[in-house]
Amino acid sequence: MSSEPSEKSLRRVQKLVDSLTKKSGTTTHPDDSVTEAVVRGLANNIDALGKPLCPCRFYPDKEAEVKHRTWICACDDMQIYKYCHCLLFVNEEGLPITEYLPEGHEGRTSYGLVRDPTPELGRPLCAKAEERERERKERPS
Ligand code: SF4
Repeated sequence: MSSEPSEKSLRRVQKLVDSLTKKSGTTTHPDDSVTEAVVRGLANNIDALGKPLCPCRFYPDKEAEVKHRTWICACDDMQIYKYCHCLLFVNEEGLPITEYLPEGHEGRTSYGLVRDPTPELGRPLCAKAEERERERKERPS
């Protein structure tokens, strides 16, 4: 995350952030340095891999992870549960939405129950929750 991302990739990520906050009814983190670090990480991954792979996780094989798509922003957890573990998409207090996460998910353990202030927005893939939960258990990444 230390190298300088290209302007082009930064612009692409900024567009993604603007669009996703609107669609999901979330906001970026009140501490701008949190947002900036994640945005730069996503842009760096676009430069290196061609896709905005989530910068907040460890991947044994990044190329394979890109093909898998689970952690390409907006990742499955964001599209299914409205949960952003990088804290890029959060509520006004800077907390990630955890209301829809299954029991035992790391987000619930870390933040407790955080209600969705805009339940009418986002979660376009909510029907895939069962499939995602199976994957989370079988292929932790
Ligand atoms: S957790 Fe998901 S939504 Fe949040 S920055 Fe990473 S890929 Fe994007």
